Amino acid sequence: MKIHEYQAKKLFNDFKIPTPKGDVASTPDEVKKIAEDIGKVVIKAQIHAGGRGKGGGVKIASSPGEAYKIAKEMLGSKLVTHQTGPEGKTVNKVLVEEVLDIEKELYLGIVIDRSQKEEQPVIMGSSEGGVEIEKVAAQTPEKIVKVSANPVGSFSAYQGRKIAYGMGLDKDGAKKATRLLNNLYNLVIGKDASLVEINPLIITKEGELIALDGKINFDDDGLYRHPDIKELRDLEEEEPLERQASDLGVNYIKLDGNVGCMVNGAGLAMATMDLIQLAGGEPANFLDVGGGASSEKIEKAFSILISDKNVKAILVNIFGGILRCDRVANGLIEAAKNLDMSLPLVVRLQGTNVEEGKALLNDSGLKIEVAQSLDEAAKKVVSLAASEV
Ligand code: GDP
Ligand code: MN
Repeated sequence: MKIHEYQAKKLFNDFKIPTPKGDVASTPDEVKKIAEDIGKVVIKAQIHAGGRGKGGGVKIASSPGEAYKIAKEMLGSKLVTHQTGPEGKTVNKVLVEEVLDIEKELYLGIVIDRSQKEEQPVIMGSSEGGVEIEKVAAQTPEKIVKVSANPVGSFSAYQGRKIAYGMGLDKDGAKKATRLLNNLYNLVIGKDASLVEINPLIITKEGELIALDGKINFDDDGLYRHPDIKELRDLEEEEPLERQASDLGVNYIKLDGNVGCMVNGAGLAMATMDLIQLAGGEPANFLDVGGGASSEKIEKAFSILISDKNVKAILVNIFGGILRCDRVANGLIEAAKNLDMSLPLVVRLQGTNVEEGKALLNDSGLKIEVAQSLDEAAKKVVSLAASEV
């Protein structure tokens, strides 16, 4: 789960990480009021995407009147950045903050690295923070210093110093950075965050370290332990189909291809997507209906799947174990009838009650092709999708 910058900064403050003075607002009048209290302000679009600085989502206002004007333009508009996709994201809130004098922009982040066996938190720091960090990572990765931490032990000062000197700080700065990093580490572990990023972490002219930006992602599977964090979820920022699916308890992730797929079991779903690609197609989604799906759940999952307008053909791949093939067939037939489905459908069934399932599909009178092997199914669905375009 992602949260907004203003929410991340509140959490930073709870963990004693300094941020600029400011407040969140959802109307131009509120923005003006905050600006009257603070003076010169920076107005920042609150969307679940970065790259706002370059996309016009971070603007400085010298007076309350100017703040009002900028807020009026920004609120309700669609902001396009390199992270939003071409359709952009609607700005419903802005963060209004004091403008600080920046001496230098640094980068600081902690990510749970799943590529390592122990899934350890990795701390990263760089002297080259700011809006070009992606370029730094790609062109001069040696400018990003990394340290692995032990998730069950505590964070140690020498690790902090290694990062701090890697960020180009002097002795005094390193002391401050180590304290800040310790607090940030406690936040990650304490709240089950999967990633935190402060970019930029700035040094002010007075030598203070302040988090000018904040990004925090959380591990969805840890949310039940943190009702306070769960409350920060902003449904408007999430893919509407994924939201519907999560309410149904169906594991669905929207992708960009045109071959819809419905599978039981996450591993089989991944294998199915691979085979679609091998056959020259692109999957439109990942969808795992789970082991004990009812025909009603199958129908709902199906309706989510075909709400994606990119879908041109569908592959249903079920290995019937707990989930019996005849039940799946009934769910599919009901769904196709109720939803008035006109897309070509390829079904591959195996396992418990497979013959009953196939007979139901063949007798349904619907345009369903039953494939014998997964390989055949993938090839068929890809060619059907291609001919539909
Ligand atoms: P992002 O582009 O979405 O990551 O948004 P950021 O919050 O990182 O802001 C982008 C850039 O705007 C920063 O790297 C800063 O250079 C600039 N910026 C943001 N807040 C301030 C501020 O208070 N004072 C000054 N001078 N610049 C700021
Ligand atoms: Mn940033």
